[in-house]
Amino acid sequence: MDSQAHALTTRAVHAGKDDLTDAGLHAVPLDLSTTYPSRDVAAEAARLDAFAAGYDDGGPPVYARAANTTVRRFEHALAELEGAEACVAFASGMAALSAVLLARVAAGLGHVVAVRPLYGTTDHLLTSGLLGNGVTFATAAEAASAVTAATGLVVVETPANPTLSEVDIRALAAACAPVPLLVDNTFATPALQRPLDHGAAISVHSATKYLGGHGDVMGGAVACSEEFARALRQVRFVTGGVLDPRAAHQLHRGLATLPVRMRAQSDGAARLARRLAAHPAVRRVHYPGLDAQARPAGQMSGGGAMVSFEVAGDAAALIGAVRLITPAVSLGSVDSLIQHPASISHHIMGPASRAEAGISPDLVRLSVGLEDAEDLWADLSAALDASLK
Ligand SMILES: *Cc1c(COP(=O)(O)O)cnc(C)c1O
Repeated sequence: MDSQAHALTTRAVHAGKDDLTDAGLHAVPLDLSTTYPSRDVAAEAARLDAFAAGYDDGGPPVYARAANTTVRRFEHALAELEGAEACVAFASGMAALSAVLLARVAAGLGHVVAVRPLYGTTDHLLTSGLLGNGVTFATAAEAASAVTAATGLVVVETPANPTLSEVDIRALAAACAPVPLLVDNTFATPALQRPLDHGAAISVHSATKYLGGHGDVMGGAVACSEEFARALRQVRFVTGGVLDPRAAHQLHRGLATLPVRMRAQSDGAARLARRLAAHPAVRRVHYPGLDAQARPAGQMSGGGAMVSFEVAGDAAALIGAVRLITPAVSLGSVDSLIQHPASISHHIMGPASRAEAGISPDLVRLSVGLEDAEDLWADLSAALDASLK
């Protein structure tokens, strides 16, 4: 482990907790107030004006839709891990992405250039135009030529859900500048990749996945500049998609073990990817670094814990046959999950968009947990045999 990994592991344990010892506390306090008393009405009015304009100076929140002290700690911790000035937390990953989109639409820059594949609901959000945006899908190489005067955002996932394809963040950010580049960092997490270090303006998370890490809490977060964070807080203040403080408390706890989980789960995923590639029921395996294909240099410090593969037989039979692995959508938990993107995570896109995004009907997506890799392989290989019958 290099010193940077050391530092990240340490920061993950301590971020957002610097004041606890002097406060005589050890665990992060859980603030459940929905309102915050004050005898100074004029001061309250001034604070509300500041919140409505997107400022959060860390003082009394006035009302829980404006801010919450437990949520703030999680935001500070994630901003530190992402190397960002600020972080704004939301009720889910989709609430986070929606807030980014609404902020750009409100600024009169509602055209988005997006690189497929994207998470199914993200693709649907952009394509449907439900929030008043327009979209042009392009390859990473062609994204810059799709930018118009109305473009307010470039959107990419790397590694992408569900094909694990990677995009060179630095090259894409430079080509599309000054349009801000949003990287959905859900799959890599700051334990393996920090998009802002490579020129992205915005790093978005479904915190529901690896940040929580145990499949029992929903949340979303945007790491970005303080200036863009103000635009996001304005949207959050009026739309109310706030992160529940109990969820923030669990997500903050999850950050402490994130680097260790990511390392162990990535190790298991790399092993399974190699095994899968040699199995006769598997036509193709997608895993960062598995084949000789060139990868963006220095972007990601590990392959991550997601593996996807195309099967020669029946994908539904495979998913029906696993016994140790859980047949369920979602990802990033300590237990392994398997699902069929065309039926579940990317179903909403429809077959034509899936084909354009390179998502085969034979594709299966596996989220590798903390189980022993040999136990996982025994389960998976038996299910693969069943998929050929
Ligand atoms: C799950 C997911 C989302 C959506 O997050 P929710 O927390 O489910 O709203 C967005 N992007 C990616 C890459 C995801 O996997």
